[in-house]
Amino acid sequence: CGIVGYVGKKDAQPVLLDGLRKLEYRGYDSAGVSVVDGDRIASVRAVGNLDNLEAALVQATGAWAAITPEMLAGTVTAAPITIGIGHTRWATHGRVNEQNAHPHYDNRNRIHVVVNGIVENYMALKQRLIAGGAHFTSETDAEVIAHLVSSHRDQCDTLAEAVRRSFLELEGHYAFVAMGLDDPDTLVAARKECPLIIGRGDGETFLASAIPAFLKHTRDVQVIEDGELVVVTADEVAFMSPGGAPIDREVTTIDWDE
Ligand code: GLU
Repeated sequence: CGIVGYVGKKDAQPVLLDGLRKLEYRGYDSAGVSVVDGDRIASVRAVGNLDNLEAALVQATGAWAAITPEMLAGTVTAAPITIGIGHTRWATHGRVNEQNAHPHYDNRNRIHVVVNGIVENYMALKQRLIAGGAHFTSETDAEVIAHLVSSHRDQCDTLAEAVRRSFLELEGHYAFVAMGLDDPDTLVAARKECPLIIGRGDGETFLASAIPAFLKHTRDVQVIEDGELVVVTADEVAFMSPGGAPIDREVTTIDWDE
């Protein structure tokens, strides 16, 4: 239902949580965030509202503090670059529980994804992936994307190419963002009939299903057209077609008030 992604020098967790709060008006039943934390991906999910997620984060990390203006302004920096993804789920496939909340991940916990919409052909893909050794931990259609990207990542050199190959196999109407431990400075996203937009900051980049999620940070946006992929780092955003051809996209400044 709601997607946020962040790469930059602010502490990713509060930026993601704040972004999710801006998307609350869309409704949701559970939520979660994942961030790259050294040599692992740390992930916390919770059923219910974002206060529950925040409480779960406090419990999981012991170090979670309330979001301060300083954190959002970027004066609190945890690492040179922080990167993460967040999601508010409106269940379509699978019950409302913690296991079905996003982000979803592969068996080695190296690829995490957040997904909006519906993957129509998830059953066929799931059967193939299970036959190939994948172990599913949720009832959702969305989880196939994590395992699919992971299996392609083993066969190619970059997360971008793994996501592109996955995108070619997915049917339905969806938007997703993938993050991987082997490409820890990059988010890769794709959209098909579900919204997703880029926010360009100064040395930081945002991804979201709607502009209010990052409006506090930047008004410079790049539209992802239907059927396109984007490869996002703190300073660069590359658009490409499903065939892998690069696409130029202008930056537009919007004049909305926060
Ligand atoms: N189909 C996915 C699920 O049920 C995503 C739903 C959504 O858009 O939040 O998990």
